[in-house]
Amino acid sequence: MKNRILLIIALIIGCIYSVEAQNAKPEDTEVWSPVPAVVTPVMAGTNAPSDAIILFDGKSLDQWASVKDTTAPANWLVSNKVLTVNKSAGNIQTKRSFGNYQLHIEWKIPENIKEEGQSKGNSGIFLASTGRGDDGYELQILDSYDNKTYVNGQAGSIYKQFPPLVNASKKPGEWQSYDIIWTAPVFNPDGVLRTPAYVTVLHNGVLIQNNVELQGPTKYIGKASYGKAHGASPIKLQSHGDPSKPISFRNIWVRELGS
Ligand code: MG
Repeated sequence: MKNRILLIIALIIGCIYSVEAQNAKPEDTEVWSPVPAVVTPVMAGTNAPSDAIILFDGKSLDQWASVKDTTAPANWLVSNKVLTVNKSAGNIQTKRSFGNYQLHIEWKIPENIKEEGQSKGNSGIFLASTGRGDDGYELQILDSYDNKTYVNGQAGSIYKQFPPLVNASKKPGEWQSYDIIWTAPVFNPDGVLRTPAYVTVLHNGVLIQNNVELQGPTKYIGKASYGKAHGASPIKLQSHGDPSKPISFRNIWVRELGS
């Protein structure tokens, strides 16, 4: 008896679904609003999409400050539309803070560096700077065209956490690019981590980090973990202490993304 009742209920539900399926229209699953904002993409004669914040346009360092003293100007060298690390000035960071974003940055390792390993053109992008010095989440910059080092410290690695999926490095002397999608970590009001940071990176147009879940800010010694809670943070560029010739940057822009 019970089975018969269940069968009848199933048949009735089946009939309802098949009537609904017959009445379904293509329009039922069309979404018309909100309409995505119009953005003019990078086109010939432009370097950035129309809604980007230009962080370096080849002329001015107005968007940047010294990390040692965030009220002081970023004392790196600007010449011929190129920004070059000034090792005596230390790291620099954006004056603005960012949550989730898309970042484009181009960088060049100078030719004829005689150093090797981690001393060959080392720099980096701290995707969120969490303090002075090298505090933050570092996407490594290094000459990795023909230069052996630990793989979670080569170009395109999330330093000491994730090696790149592939090595898409160009030769020293050639311009390279990173396109980065950064999802900032979120902390509860009591400081406990709610969601970790995630990052996707394309190196010279090739996917090298695919939405990896970060273990915390970069640690040179020991295992990374989320310590102090933080909100929106500056983006920081590294002036590494190695003795090799300084590297250069150009065409840096960022698009803020919602949470
Ligand atoms: Mg570095």
